Amino acid sequence: MQNNWYQIVRDYTVRLVGIRSVNSTEGEVQVVEEVLRLLQSDGLDSAYTAIGLDPLPGDAFGRKNAYAFLRGKSPLTLVLLGHMDTVDTADYGPLEAWALDPAGLAERQDMLAALAPGLAEDLAAHPGDWMFGRGSADMKSGVAANIAVMRHLARMAREGRLPLSVVMLATVDEENESAGILQATYLLSRLRKQYRLQYLGAINTDYTTARYPGDTHRYIYTGTIGKLLPSFLMIGREAHVGIPFDGIDANLLAAELIRVLSMNDELCDVVGRQRTPPPVTLHMSDLKAHYDVQLPFMAYFYLNVLTFSTDPGQLLTRLQRVAEELMDAALKRIDDAERRWRQASDNSFQAESIQTRSGIVLTYAELCAQVAQQFGQERLDAELEKAWESCPPHLDARERALHMVRSVWKCSGRSGPAIVMYYSPPYYPHVAAIPCVLLDAVNATVEAHPELHLVVEEYYPYIADISYLRLDSGIDGTALTANMPTWQAADKPLHSGGYSLPLETIQDVGMPVVNLGPYGRGVHQSGEAVLTSYSFGRLPELICEVIERLG
Ligand SMILES: [Zn+2]
Repeated sequence: MQNNWYQIVRDYTVRLVGIRSVNSTEGEVQVVEEVLRLLQSDGLDSAYTAIGLDPLPGDAFGRKNAYAFLRGKSPLTLVLLGHMDTVDTADYGPLEAWALDPAGLAERQDMLAALAPGLAEDLAAHPGDWMFGRGSADMKSGVAANIAVMRHLARMAREGRLPLSVVMLATVDEENESAGILQATYLLSRLRKQYRLQYLGAINTDYTTARYPGDTHRYIYTGTIGKLLPSFLMIGREAHVGIPFDGIDANLLAAELIRVLSMNDELCDVVGRQRTPPPVTLHMSDLKAHYDVQLPFMAYFYLNVLTFSTDPGQLLTRLQRVAEELMDAALKRIDDAERRWRQASDNSFQAESIQTRSGIVLTYAELCAQVAQQFGQERLDAELEKAWESCPPHLDARERALHMVRSVWKCSGRSGPAIVMYYSPPYYPHVAAIPCVLLDAVNATVEAHPELHLVVEEYYPYIADISYLRLDSGIDGTALTANMPTWQAADKPLHSGGYSLPLETIQDVGMPVVNLGPYGRGVHQSGEAVLTSYSFGRLPELICEVIERLG
């Protein structure tokens, strides 16, 4: 069962798990430094064509990606990719002191099983084959496999036997906003020009897991899911609670919209046998800062929408239609309630004279266009600049987008009821599978190993850095950038807290992506564990087989 790779990958995994590298901490730097040491140890440093740390400019934590490049006999190049940051360890509760100590957790396996749902069943299914610890599955074992494979390839390169070229990247910040891979796209572009490379594609080694209880398959993905964060600002109308029909409760509009959008499986993308999980809200709130007896006249929420095929423009159009229908229905319901209430009250004489309510649903781009038309582009630009300047530093990126929308709304002079729809960051493009030699090599490798129960599926379902290695030609980015208030356009003054993606560089390096990673369970939970026989033994073999077929 165990082979040459097993002990090596196991050792690397334990060393990497032992370094605390929770996202947005300096630990992320220490762990990539260790990756570099492991790649170079035992005199292998001179075997690489280029190797080092690539800093993220202006990063608050001084973070860097680790990279290594081997120029083989051919300019055809494979990228081996993995992230080194993890989520926090507080979820380990009483066992937090051992969260980074696989042996310590193994000694306390019974206690861990009592804390972690489903762990006892998985332990029984594969006794003695799990390694515990934060980052063990997501995804330090994946990077450990990449390091082992890269060292193997470095020896081949030193002897002039490496048929193709290989870049290995260990990135930071995957668990937050993927600043690491976004920076790495520039490095990939630079390497390509400098060494005249042609990218065959990237193998990401992020975790894979069972899709249902008792699932014996091991999954390989040839694309990845995308994510958008459409956001809604509801504007009602203020009124004293004693005379509510004079106002519109913005929370009521939000509630109506959330009732229909959240968990709605009709909004799922379906491609082949795969289906995205339905949208859910990630946050909602009205904009009252304190208690009073006034109707809340502004509320907002943002919706997590996962995609296989829907692009930012299509989603916005679809959601706008839903919002318009709901607004009409909600306002009509208030009209009816008011009519009944007045008829039943003393002031029934007013029942017939009530004003029918109506509202409007606008996208942020439409709102801006109206303000520009009414007051001039210069006034709008000045208003936006003022909004940027009045934004408190370190404000959450979603709150910052909201702040911008509110400023433009105020400038418009309009009154509610209204809903303004816009995009908050981040945006992860979906990437579909495309016919290519990497895909052929993966399929041939899968066919050669029926004993491993490997299954190839198209979309990696857990959101990953590989979203930023290709922009599918069908994706129209203009609806995104025009409707994201904090989008930092290249030709506009630089604002701190602005959001941007190197869309041109992504298009420039654009390559097929595959996720061929370790098999784990319970990621982002205290029961996180990696199945060692597959992840330490089989995975590096599979990666090498794919590489052999590419060469
Ligand atoms: Zn991961």
